[in-house]
Amino acid sequence: MYSQGSNNYRINFSGLGCWFTLIAIALLLGSIGLGWLVKSIAIIFVLISVAPFVLFFGVRWWLSRNLIEGNCPVCDTPLTGLNKAQTVCPNCRTQLQVTRSGFERFTPEGTVEVNAVDVTSSDRSDEAVNVSVEVLPPVDEEG
Ligand SMILES: [Zn+2]
Repeated sequence: MYSQGSNNYRINFSGLGCWFTLIAIALLLGSIGLGWLVKSIAIIFVLISVAPFVLFFGVRWWLSRNLIEGNCPVCDTPLTGLNKAQTVCPNCRTQLQVTRSGFERFTPEGTVEVNAVDVTSSDRSDEAVNVSVEVLPPVDEEG
């Protein structure tokens, strides 16, 4: 008599049935005073599923703030570097300091940079040679 309907009681663990089973178990645990367990499992589950997105967007945000693209001030090679880091140009081997505004030649504090202004066009030997001397401001630590 009853053998015919035995198959109707088989629990389907695939698809939605699985979720309904989980919810039923959660409600059951909650009803017997284990709601805290359900909550902690739910929080862990949410954290695990959200963490990769937070990490992904966090890294993207950090890179957008700290990844600097620019050209070597000496040879114009396109370079990419991290903000406030020091790097060496792969083309001309110049030591470079990465700043928020781009790449600058790395100069220790107190270095005096001398720019020689064009002297080749000078046809009078007694004319004074114009040399501009520029003292670079110290590197801003705050960026
Ligand atoms: Zn270079």
